[in-house]
Amino acid sequence: MPELPENEAQRLTLERECLNRTIEKAELGDDVSYIELPGSNELGRLKGRQFTETWRHGKNVFAGSKSGPWITVHLGMTGWLIPFDAPDDTPDHTKLLITFEGDRRLAFRCPRKLGHVRVIDDPGAYIGEQGFGPDALDIAKDAFCKVVGSTRGAIKSALMSQDKLAGIGNLWSDEILFRIGVGPERRANELSDDELEDTFDTMRELLKKGVDVEADYAKLPDTWLIRKRDEGGGCPRRGCGGTIRRTKVGGRSAYHCDTHQS
Ligand SMILES: [Zn+2]
Repeated sequence: MPELPENEAQRLTLERECLNRTIEKAELGDDVSYIELPGSNELGRLKGRQFTETWRHGKNVFAGSKSGPWITVHLGMTGWLIPFDAPDDTPDHTKLLITFEGDRRLAFRCPRKLGHVRVIDDPGAYIGEQGFGPDALDIAKDAFCKVVGSTRGAIKSALMSQDKLAGIGNLWSDEILFRIGVGPERRANELSDDELEDTFDTMRELLKKGVDVEADYAKLPDTWLIRKRDEGGGCPRRGCGGTIRRTKVGGRSAYHCDTHQS
């Protein structure tokens, strides 16, 4: 599932390709049952408007303008925003298509229908209403240590709780814990202050790197877990010699090293 780095890459795509262009129409694609998309009145609100700014909070991408309206996009498992120019064909599985003046188009492709698009008035108010915690790249260290360190559940689950901290999912929670040598099932409230601070610093470092490469994971070092998520495979950390194990934590697959993480 796309996490903070993918969503930031999508925000950048919107910023580069879709700002300051008047929207001629916004329409639904084919096969749009069982996916949440704006109704015709909401789509009509976009007509004649421009996106002049973008924003991202956790796994939510926004485009809009000071006076609104905004669209908010959640990618779900397989969603992706794809700008293109007519007369190129609209991508398959397009659920929403925005036509800008001239040739520019923006498709929301979502084959598995687990994402959504909404039309809203104000991103800040929306984030509050939805109950999301601070963005993982915005939260301050003391706030992070307080909210994560007071969680009784597994550290992996705490990092993935969008109401505590927005933006981290399965992949990046595993990567952070792999780096700091903490097992995914350790209780968050049993981490020492030093371990919590290490978790915070590492989270920022890794997420920033993921953002820098625009979520192109082939560009990340091959000593990272993200490159070697294979049950039974060798640990990619230099000199470790451990084996990568796959377990379930809070119903999600967790990959970790059986030797340097505890
Ligand atoms: Zn290892």
